[in-house]
Amino acid sequence: MKALCWFGKHDIRVEDVPDPRIINPRDAIVEVSKTAICGSDLHLYDGLIPSMKEGDILGHEFMGTIVETGDDVDTLERGDRVVVPFPIACGNCHFCHDDSFALCDNSNPNAWMAEQAFGYSPAGIYGYSHLFGGYAGGQAEYVRVPFADVGPLNVPDAIDDEQALFLSDVFPTGYQAADVADFEPGSTVAVWGCGPVGLFAIKSAYMLGAERVIAIDHVAQRLTRARRDANAEILNFDHDPILEALQDMTGGRGPDVCIEAVGMEAHGSGISDWYDKAKQSLRLETGRPHALRQAIMACGKGGTVVIPGVFGGVVDKLPLGAAFNKGLTFKMGQTHVQRYLEPLMKKIEDGDIDPSFITSHRIPLVEGPAAYELFQHKDDDCIKVVLTP
Ligand SMILES: [Zn+2]
Ligand SMILES: [Zn+2]
Repeated sequence: MKALCWFGKHDIRVEDVPDPRIINPRDAIVEVSKTAICGSDLHLYDGLIPSMKEGDILGHEFMGTIVETGDDVDTLERGDRVVVPFPIACGNCHFCHDDSFALCDNSNPNAWMAEQAFGYSPAGIYGYSHLFGGYAGGQAEYVRVPFADVGPLNVPDAIDDEQALFLSDVFPTGYQAADVADFEPGSTVAVWGCGPVGLFAIKSAYMLGAERVIAIDHVAQRLTRARRDANAEILNFDHDPILEALQDMTGGRGPDVCIEAVGMEAHGSGISDWYDKAKQSLRLETGRPHALRQAIMACGKGGTVVIPGVFGGVVDKLPLGAAFNKGLTFKMGQTHVQRYLEPLMKKIEDGDIDPSFITSHRIPLVEGPAAYELFQHKDDDCIKVVLTP
């Protein structure tokens, strides 16, 4: 089959690789119909995630058709059209029972690596380095789905591929950010970063009862989309003094919730060699968590800071005193996608949201390397690339 494979920084190739096979009785094989490139794939593209190996198949956002199931999968059949959550979860452990699927204890065969970096291992993730399990990803014609009786959700006929695809990650990720903030109706929510996760966080905040959502970015096209497609008030951090502006807009009180949907590459800075350094008790170069610092400073007293943006190592100079003295609550982490699949599919079915509004580019899988370059440079107003095998 054809697959997009990682060969190093800014080196992604279309390769002919062996078809995946059923390895465990709870596996299924999915023939991919649509897959997307994620902002967090750019951390791989930029060589910032350790433990990638040459030839690793990329991709954690995908959907398709079941072509084969293992003997123990009785929830799916050949021919079922499914969307697959990006965290791989066993369904049986303490964390899965708690609906905290991204913290699954049993899905990372390389848990020892993650334990060195993080103390405990999170769930395995498709196409996201050997630190997260070394699973082949979904930017391919076929993919093996472990624990297939837990993750994939059947897609109703009335929902088209692109409407369902973003349930694999970015829609639930934006939704979880707003959900875990647990704010009162009428609250004001500020969102840093107007990429796909930020846009879904804005829409989700309104769905959950926010009265105002203020979006912060500096890419004109993203701010336009935040206003036009998600109904946010917008601030451009290149021109607007963010803290003062947010104070002015909230009667001096500050936002009740600040969502940081940017992550470790804020302002294009990088983390290098952090895996080696993680092995030495996580001493590493700092990322530049500029947006996170600003979110902490901007957040109103008693407010909540939520971090769906991806961080990997350690960061410097977080204003913990501001957080402490304002009594802030922090929420963060990978998305428990399985928790949100059914309720969010229902919202799509009910017409409350059509997630396909984020797609800006549709490109054949075999043009994947050029698609990565386009997405990284945000050329041609690129927001989200959907690849078709
Ligand atoms: Zn993603
Ligand atoms: Zn589990």
